[in-house]
Amino acid sequence: MTINSGQEFPTFVSHLECSMSGERFEPDTLHGLSPLGRPLLVRYDLEALSKSVDKDMLAQRDGGFWRYREFLPVRRTENVVDLGEVTTPLVPLNRLGAKRDRVIVKDEGRLPTGSFKARGLALAVSMAKELGLDHLAMPTNGNAGAAMAAYASRAGMRATIFCPEDTPDVNVREIELQGGTVYRVNGLINDCGKIVGEGKEATGWFDLSTLKEPYRIEGKKTMGIELAEQLGWEVPDVIFYPTGGGTGLIGMWKAFDELERIGWIGSKRPRMVAVQATGCAPIVRAWEAGEEHAPLWENAHTFAAGIRVPVAVGDFLIIRAVRESGGFAIAVDDDAIEEARNRVSREEGFLLCPEGAATFTAYEQALASGQVSTDDQVVLYNCATGLKYPMPPVARDLDRHQPIDYSQF
Ligand SMILES: *Cc1c(COP(=O)(O)O)cnc(C)c1O
Repeated sequence: MTINSGQEFPTFVSHLECSMSGERFEPDTLHGLSPLGRPLLVRYDLEALSKSVDKDMLAQRDGGFWRYREFLPVRRTENVVDLGEVTTPLVPLNRLGAKRDRVIVKDEGRLPTGSFKARGLALAVSMAKELGLDHLAMPTNGNAGAAMAAYASRAGMRATIFCPEDTPDVNVREIELQGGTVYRVNGLINDCGKIVGEGKEATGWFDLSTLKEPYRIEGKKTMGIELAEQLGWEVPDVIFYPTGGGTGLIGMWKAFDELERIGWIGSKRPRMVAVQATGCAPIVRAWEAGEEHAPLWENAHTFAAGIRVPVAVGDFLIIRAVRESGGFAIAVDDDAIEEARNRVSREEGFLLCPEGAATFTAYEQALASGQVSTDDQVVLYNCATGLKYPMPPVARDLDRHQPIDYSQF
């Protein structure tokens, strides 16, 4: 850890801002959504920030996203809740990628709790601690709940979590084991979110739903800063992002903007590609229709649970980032996702999660349709460890008491 306890580290938050109206709000007090019911964005005094840190100073620090602390909202070091975060590696797919070092996976499965939800929840829980909260609640498809439970337990807070009843058992159990209290609900994530929202008054819990408080975006923003730093303060040509609530896509877009404003990167932006599953593709549908908002997707289904999000409060922020970047939105079906997961595992030795595999198959489809080229430097996000998901069974046994036919091997 680079952080010394008991110390205030410089933070540069100036105010919060409604992502829709631009209305300003005081920092350092509790906020949920803006009065318009839209996400609040954290704004910084970027000039002061850029005077207090430079690229060389950063290069001296330990890995993990807390190295970007000047870009983050936590004011007091003692409120930082950490679990040994690492800088996640960039792994090129040199056997399956079109050209050497052109298709790179950012492997977020190496983070605490095995997914990139750790970034957002570490920040949200640290800020919850700073603001004096003691009971957090959220709806989850699995990974967010696990990250919230882990960081909340680490901070000595209560965590109450609601997930759809068909959430993989491994996720339900990891939440409970890491100190959360988890309920299976006969509905989807938006139904779970309703329970959290409606229970606020009766329980006093704080709603940590995706984009419903301002700080998870700040945690996910570190994916963009980290990527730019790893590429020598350059951005790639294209980013394929598996999009559920869109926190990561919105967060990275914000990161690139802040980095350009302080002169750390130029005006080039990656084309941002929002990847969804054909069984739940509200953003793709809205994108194709040229709309700013994405209405609820009925009967959402996909085995890529992390992107089974029928409705997103940050829909317009996702769509704007995709449009401004010159990117696009694309839906891929579950068979293609599973086939990609299995093929990348077998041929590259890289076990992607289904959502990560969705980005790979989306890349192949976009290559085939000419939306990206083999010369593009492409970054795919593997958002969680593939080990949390069901894998194909193996039916091969060997009886050591019988003569072994070595010609079979
Ligand atoms: C949450 C999650 C996503 C979607 O991330 P957002 O930033 O909320 O869109 C994708 N994949 C996995 C594995 C997730 O847990």
